[in-house]
Amino acid sequence: TKDLLGRSEMLSMIGQLAAGVAHEIRNPLTSLKGFIRLIEPALQPREFRYLDIMKGELDRIELIVNEMLVLSKPQIMELALYPMDELLDYIIELLNTQAVMKSIEIERIFEPVPPIECEQRRIKQVFVNLLKNAIESMEPNGIIKVSIERADEDHIRVVVSDQGKGMSQEQLARLTEPFYTTKEKGNGLGLMMTASIVERHGGTIVFDSVVGEGTAVTVTLPIEQKKQELLSGRLLAH
Ligand code: ADP
Ligand code: MG
Repeated sequence: TKDLLGRSEMLSMIGQLAAGVAHEIRNPLTSLKGFIRLIEPALQPREFRYLDIMKGELDRIELIVNEMLVLSKPQIMELALYPMDELLDYIIELLNTQAVMKSIEIERIFEPVPPIECEQRRIKQVFVNLLKNAIESMEPNGIIKVSIERADEDHIRVVVSDQGKGMSQEQLARLTEPFYTTKEKGNGLGLMMTASIVERHGGTIVFDSVVGEGTAVTVTLPIEQKKQELLSGRLLAH
């Protein structure tokens, strides 16, 4: 198929397949969750733990299915102006308990920048993924730096750098592949999502990494979404 189909046709076929599978999984998932709620009052206290595990695993399935749906559906972007410092502060607060448990300090280096025109929920997802990966890459102790600065007239730049295990060239090349993960509990969808959301906004993402020293991820985003591109379809495609 590689010879017969171009890369974009391949991706669109995979996308359609993913959307189909995701839809089919969603219905039985919803009924499973409903029936779990029904049997809950009848359980013995020592069975609650099993129920918690079941709920956790169902949530994981739901998360994967939702990510597949987001990726495969061409959607109109719902744009709004959003201040980057507020967004990152919110995410840092969200993930801080995870960092504190590993004695990791998150340092903010925020330059004042204008609010950016973006899909708030998706851009949040981008930085949740990056910060989570940074925390997960580190042994206890150390610092993660999150910086915001003006890149040029039309762009801002956000850098998330960690002092984690870093990545080899081979790893770097495969980062955004679906299901590529080196973690026992990873799903390998985070960076694929992240890269696709950044691209959808007309931005760029660059990974600099040294094995044993750490990783810096640089995300550059336009302050305004260009109107002609809105019309020509970039903001309608993925
Ligand atoms: P997941 O986190 O579920 O494994 P991701 O798509 O977020 O999936 O990341 C894919 C892989 O890229 C990770 O399993 C890890 O090997 C590597 N990776 C991503 N971010 C970092 C980082 N900050 N430091 C080291 N390795 C990373
Ligand atoms: Mg991840």
